[in-house]
Amino acid sequence: MRILVTNDDGIRAEGLKAMVEVAQELGEVWVVAPDRERSACGHSLTMRDPLRVKPHPWESAHAFELSGVPTDCVNVGRELMDQRVDLVLSGFNHGPNLGFDITYSGTVAAAMEGALNGIRSVSASMAMFTEEAPLHLTTGKAAFRELLPRLLQLEWPALAFFNVNVPAIDRAELNAPVFCSMGRRVYEDRIEKREDPWGRTYYWQGGVVAMHRDQPNTDVEAINRGHVSVTPITLDWTDRALLDRLLVADRDHPAVDPALER
Ligand code: MN
Repeated sequence: MRILVTNDDGIRAEGLKAMVEVAQELGEVWVVAPDRERSACGHSLTMRDPLRVKPHPWESAHAFELSGVPTDCVNVGRELMDQRVDLVLSGFNHGPNLGFDITYSGTVAAAMEGALNGIRSVSASMAMFTEEAPLHLTTGKAAFRELLPRLLQLEWPALAFFNVNVPAIDRAELNAPVFCSMGRRVYEDRIEKREDPWGRTYYWQGGVVAMHRDQPNTDVEAINRGHVSVTPITLDWTDRALLDRLLVADRDHPAVDPALER
């Protein structure tokens, strides 16, 4: 199995190293990761600048740093690997990617890019909730050693990938993985208005999570209870239920187009 490992925290991130260690037990590993931190870049794509590749010293893996974002890493990685990629692993991100976070996340975007190119892909994040908290990558590695073979046995529908969060806690305290849906994570006080020494206004974007309780069967709840959350995500963003209702409404009350009446 040929595995492409990437992340959004950059090629020097500890979480990436941990993921490579797990991947090496499963197959041939290629690392293509951003040359610097690119967190919260979402599914962006570099189109107005060249993408430079630089070999990065790595024991028993082909490793390259790229002057781009995670989506670029997947696409350049596929090229470097002669389009023969069986699995994309993105992570371990330093921090959770729960609920709506996945729309901002570069970690998850790499898995999206893999999935839309027909490659089985998994995004992985260590869910600690303060900057200073330990990452507990040993827990992440143990969880993935168990989880990945299980996921690889499943049949993956087209456009589907898995978003996985591992609680950053001691391995002994870790609960079993659960399959769950994407929760709702909303931030409060997102924009902070400040003033620089010259009296000019500027803004910091951050905020604290406002909504985290009473979300049964979601990634948010799973993590709060110390479980590894495993959420199947699809790239078909169509709201099927709404579309069905609209189609029925259209059939029952067709909009009259005067051009067609004539
Ligand atoms: Mn990150």
